[in-house]
Order: sequence, then C-alpha cells, then structure tokens
Amino acid sequence: MRNLSTQRYVVANWKMNLPPLPIVDFIASLPSVPSSDSTKLILAPPFPFINEVITAASNAASSIEVAGQNCSEKENGPLTGEVSASMLMRAGATYVIIGHSERRALFREGDDIVAEKIAACWRSGPVPILCIGEPIEVRDEGDVRGYLEKQIQSSVPSSEAGSLLVAYEPVWAIGSGRNASASMIAEAVGWIRSSLDKDAGRGRSPVIYGGSVTAENVDELQSDGGIDGFLVGGASLDPKALSVIYHSTAGRTLPDSGIARFRQK
Ligand code: PEP
Repeated sequence: MRNLSTQRYVVANWKMNLPPLPIVDFIASLPSVPSSDSTKLILAPPFPFINEVITAASNAASSIEVAGQNCSEKENGPLTGEVSASMLMRAGATYVIIGHSERRALFREGDDIVAEKIAACWRSGPVPILCIGEPIEVRDEGDVRGYLEKQIQSSVPSSEAGSLLVAYEPVWAIGSGRNASASMIAEAVGWIRSSLDKDAGRGRSPVIYGGSVTAENVDELQSDGGIDGFLVGGASLDPKALSVIYHSTAGRTLPDSGIARFRQK
C-alpha cells in the first residue's frame, strides 16, 4: 500500500478537452517538477493523449504523473469502449479518477460501481482518486455530513487494502464558477477524515478539493488548512493558471516574473 499522506496534490482534469496549445508546449510552460518534490502534479488527459503527456513530461525532465479519467470495474472482456485499470497502468497512468460527478450523473454510475472500480484499481496498481460531494439541494436543506459519510461507506471497499485519494467536489461547485468557501471545505474535510478513519483507518488518506478552483481563489480556498491539494477542471487547461495553482499548493511564491506576471494576465 503506497503511503500518500506526506504529499500534496494538484490533479488537472482536462475532461474531454485539450489545451489550446500543443501538449508539448503546454508541458514546457509548466513548472518542472523534480521527482523529490513533495507536491505532485498529476495530469488527467483523455485516454488517447496519455502517452503524449508522458513523453512530453519526460522530455522536459519533469516528474509530472498521469491519471486516467475513469476505468472499467472489469479486467477485460467484451466491453466495447471500456478501458481497464491494468490497461491504464500499462499505458503509464499511475492514478485514476473514479466516481466524478459527471460520470455519476451522465453515465448513471452509482456507489456500487464506484466501489468495484476502486477495488479494480487496487488489484491492478493505479491509485484511485475517489470523487464525492453533495448536490445543491443537500447543501441548502439537508445533511451534508450524512451525505458524504454515506458516499464513503458505500463506495470504499472496507474489506480490501489499498491507498486512495479523496476529492471533495460539491456538485454545485463543479464548472459553475461558484466555489465552496474555505470554511465549508475545512468542515467537509474534517467529516471526510473522521468517516475514513472509521473505515479501516483510512483517515490518513489525502483529501483534496475540487470545484471552480482558479489562480485567483486558490490561496483563499486553502486558508483554513486541512486540505492536501486540489482537483482542477476548467483552469487546468490554462498553463499559467495551473502553474499558479501548483505553486500555491506547494506553498511557494514565485518571483515577480513568475506568479505575479501570471496573475496579471
Ligand atoms: C472537475 O471537473 O472535477 C472540476 C472541479 O471542474 P472545475 O474546476 O471546472 O469546476
């Protein structure tokens, strides 16, 4: 089981998009990540571009890692269009995003399938990045804590060993331009950690936040502490924004020629 808890993470979810410049130029304009760096930068491109990202990162001598955006719960078989966790691992993806709210809503993936996908990752090697988060009705009127606890209990297989990252992504914050506040994030992360603790002592799993993270709000979002990084959608297609988010997550400030210049544009 990999010890993930001493690191911080920025996961760039490109969804079914490509950046507005060639991948090789995109990677060249990101900070070069040394292998010893305690903040990991993980890019999740569409499947056909995994190899291109890995090659570009290697040419840039950067230890950027790669995630799949989804995988099948099955190992192989007559499942046209599906990709297994072991195939992703073989292609060089060391992480897989599981249970993203778009997959849950648009592809009808429930917690039972999510649990099977996590187990498939644990059998094959890539670290699952489990996405959970409440819809707006639950935030407005319901029991956010109970909702998150239920998602964790029904989607993390407690009987099996394996490492995971958890991404707290309130559904209402994804792609909406409406981020959760720092205090909402800190509160939810506390609930998630205590629920994970009950589940085979997984309380030391990293918990990251996703939902309208930008270069402008990233400092504020982590100001209440407790989170181990970010899952970034829209802003991750802009290398300048992604660089600012990465450096902020790592707790670094760039010289004026770096972060300040990026923020002005
Ligand atoms: C996401 O897709 O997981 C996400 C957080 O998207 P955005 O940053 O665009 O809200």
